[in-house]
Amino acid sequence: MYWCAVSTPSGQGAQIVAKWESVVAHVQNVHAGHGDLFPSCIHGRLEGRESHKKWLEPSYKAAVKLETLVCNKPCVTTFEANLGLQTSAVEGFHSLLIQFALNMYVFSYTGMLCR
Ligand SMILES: [Zn+2]
Repeated sequence: MYWCAVSTPSGQGAQIVAKWESVVAHVQNVHAGHGDLFPSCIHGRLEGRESHKKWLEPSYKAAVKLETLVCNKPCVTTFEANLGLQTSAVEGFHSLLIQFALNMYVFSYTGMLCR
């Protein structure tokens, strides 16, 4: 889910959702023909590794359950609506800030400003 969001330019929520929903086909060893917005997987050929993997068959109960979860409309709609609300920038800033102002000490406003 994270990869779908960070690998797509912002504002293209439909493409992110298309990537997300392609997971259902990918785990069934179908890597192309996902749709217009994300027609095929971007990984290279799975030579060697492909024959060792246990792919889901569309008729498997696990495949049906996975598709139900991945394509759950309320979940996908929420996912699409919250794409611009990632907190990684704030977390990065906070990580940098605590390098200079440990949060185990109390600093005045001026002390924080100087740090
Ligand atoms: Zn794939």
